[in-house]
Amino acid sequence: MPGTGTETITQEFKAEIKQLLDILAHSLYTNREVFVRELISNAADALYKVRFESVSGKEIQDPELPFEISIKLDKDQKLFTITDTGIGMTREELISNIGTIARSGTASFLKELKESSQQEKPDLIGKFGVGFYSVFMAGHKVRIITRSAQKDAEAWSWESDGSGTYTLTPETSAPRGTKIEVHLREDALEFADKFRIENIIRKYSNFVPFPIKIDGEQFNKISAIWREPKSALKPEQYIEFYKFHANTEEEPLSYLHFSADAPIQMNVLVFFPKTNYEWTSYANREHGVSLFVRRVHIQTGMKELLPDYLRFLKGVVDTEDLPLNISRETLQENAVVFKIKTLLVKRVLTHLKEMAEKEKDKYLEFWKQFARIFKEGYIDFTNREQVGELLRFNSSSCTSPDELISFDDYISRMKEAQKSIYYLSASGYEAMKQNPLLEIYKQKGIEVLYLYDPIDEFVMTGLQTFKEKTIQSVDQVDLKELEEIKDEKTGTTPESTEAEKVDVREMDKLCRRIKDILGDKVTDVRISQRLTESPVVLINPDGTMSGQMKKILHLVNQSAELPPQALEVNGKHPLIQNLQKIYNSNPNDSYLTQVVEQLYFTALMQDGYMAEPYKMVNGIRELLKESSHWYLERNKQDNQ
Ligand code: ADP
Repeated sequence: MPGTGTETITQEFKAEIKQLLDILAHSLYTNREVFVRELISNAADALYKVRFESVSGKEIQDPELPFEISIKLDKDQKLFTITDTGIGMTREELISNIGTIARSGTASFLKELKESSQQEKPDLIGKFGVGFYSVFMAGHKVRIITRSAQKDAEAWSWESDGSGTYTLTPETSAPRGTKIEVHLREDALEFADKFRIENIIRKYSNFVPFPIKIDGEQFNKISAIWREPKSALKPEQYIEFYKFHANTEEEPLSYLHFSADAPIQMNVLVFFPKTNYEWTSYANREHGVSLFVRRVHIQTGMKELLPDYLRFLKGVVDTEDLPLNISRETLQENAVVFKIKTLLVKRVLTHLKEMAEKEKDKYLEFWKQFARIFKEGYIDFTNREQVGELLRFNSSSCTSPDELISFDDYISRMKEAQKSIYYLSASGYEAMKQNPLLEIYKQKGIEVLYLYDPIDEFVMTGLQTFKEKTIQSVDQVDLKELEEIKDEKTGTTPESTEAEKVDVREMDKLCRRIKDILGDKVTDVRISQRLTESPVVLINPDGTMSGQMKKILHLVNQSAELPPQALEVNGKHPLIQNLQKIYNSNPNDSYLTQVVEQLYFTALMQDGYMAEPYKMVNGIRELLKESSHWYLERNKQDNQ
C-alpha cells in the first residue's frame, strides 16, 4: 500500500489505465455525455449501498444526511460538480476502486477499443461503459473528495489531470459520501449548461431512485416503474428503463412484467437482452436481476433469484415478503427467495414459449444469442419439460444447416412404430450427411437431430426423455428397435431382402478373419444391419456413451486413450462380397489383409477420429500400385 496513510502522495497510474486515458482524452469527441451517466450511476450505487447498511441496522457516518445526488454547474469556474451522500470510500478503497476500469477484462476491452474505428469507439464505450474514467473525456482535471460511511472514517481527496499520475491527500473534514469536481476542458463547456445536463439525465438516468438536484432544485420524479400497472406504461418507458438499468444503449429484445400475490407478493420486471456479451470477459457469468424489498434496493445481480442458465436476464424483483434488514448471507438460504425463484423461472419459461409460438423470428434471435447459456438448463430437473420445449436443433429433415426445429416438431413427424428420438453429433452439416451411421435412418425415412455443439450431447444425456420418448444417440441404438419401421421406398421390413444375399455363416468367418487382422484396434467385427451404402462403420461397443461424448472427454483429457470400437461390415456391399470370395479361396491372402487395414482407416477417418493419418499413406500407395498393374492388365485384355 503506497504511503503511510497520513500524508499527500503521488502515484503513477497502471499502464492499462494510462492507455485508456489517452484514448479517452484524445480520440473521442462524440458521445462524451456518457460521463454524466457513469458518474450518476456510480453515485446511485453508492447510495444503494449506504441505504442498505442503514436499513440493516449498521451505524453509519452522518446518519441525518438524506440519500441524494446533487449536481452544481458553474460556467464561470468551468466546473461540473456531482455530490452524493452514499457509501463513500476509504483511502484504500480510493486506491483500489478508482484504479480499476469498467469491471474486469480491461485488457480485452482496451484491445477492442483500440482496434475499433473512430465511429465505433463511442458506441463501444456506450455499450460497456468505461466507468469513472470517462470523466476525462470532458475534464482536464478531476478531484474526488470522499468520506466513507464507516463510523469515524477519515476524509480523503484524489486528484489527477489524467496524464499519468494522481495524488492522494488527507482532508480535514467532509460529509459522508463522495464529491467529484470536474474541471471542464475548453471544448467541453456545454457540460456546465443546465439545459444540456437536464437533457442528458432525462435520456440516461431518469429512473435513478434517489433525488437528483441540479443547482439546488430537484429535477427527477422518482418512480419504481415495476410497481406500476402495465396499462399505465408505454413501450418507450420500458425501453428507457432497460437502458438505464442495464447501462446500455441497446434496446431489449423482449420483456416480462407481472405482479403476483401468492405464494409471494412481488412485482417483477425482467428484460431479455438483444446481444449476449458474455463472450467478452466484462460480464463474466454475472447475473442481471436485482432484488428490492418494498422499493429499497437490496442487491444488484442476485444469483439466488434465477438459475445460472437464465443469468442473462436483466431487471428487478421487488417483494413485500422479506424484511428490509435482511442480511446478504441469509438471503442465500432464504425460503422466500427460493419461492420467488421458482415462480420467476416458470414465468420466464412461459414467456419464452409464447415468444417461440407467436414471435418465431424473435425467438430465433434469442436462440442465436443465448442458446449456449440456455442449454445449461438441462440440469433444471423441475422444469425439464419446459426447457426441452424451448430447445432447437438442426435435423436431417432440414434443408440447410441454419434451419432449426424443436422436439415437438420432431415428434409430430415420428414414424408410426418409432419409439425414440434419435440424434447424432458431428462437426458440421456436410460431415453429418456423409455419416454411414445415418444410412439406415435415411432408408427408413426416420428423422435424426443433428448436433454440432459439444454441450448438446450433455443436454441429451441429461434429459434422457422428452414427453415420454427416449432420446438416443444413433450409435447406441439397439437396431431391433428399428425393425418394425418400414423401409421408406419398398414399404417392407429389411430382413426379407437382406438374408437372400448374405450367407451369414460364411460372412461370420470373414468377420473373424478381419478381427484377426485388426487385433486390438477393434473390440469386435460383426455383420451390420444399419449400413446400406458404406462397406464398414465403427460403432461403440458398450452402448453406454456415444462416440461423440467420448471424443469430448478425450478433448478434455488428452491423455485418456480413446477406447477401441467395434467394426460393422456391410455384407451387401460389392467390396465386402469380393473380400468374401478372396477369403473363401485363401483366408490368408495378403491382399485381403491390406484392404482390411485400409478399410479400417477409412472408417476411423469417417468417424472424425484419425490420430495418425500418416499410417494410411504407405498402405494406400501399395494398393494404388497394385491396382495400376491390374488396370494395365485389363486394358491389354480389352484391346486384344
Ligand atoms: P464500476 O462502477 O463499473 O465498478 P467505475 O470505474 O465507475 O466502475 O468505478 C469503480 C469503483 O469505484 C466502483 O465500483 C466503486 O467501488 C467506486 N466508486 C466510484 N464512484 C463512487 C462513488 N460516487 N461513491 C463510492 N464509490 C465509488
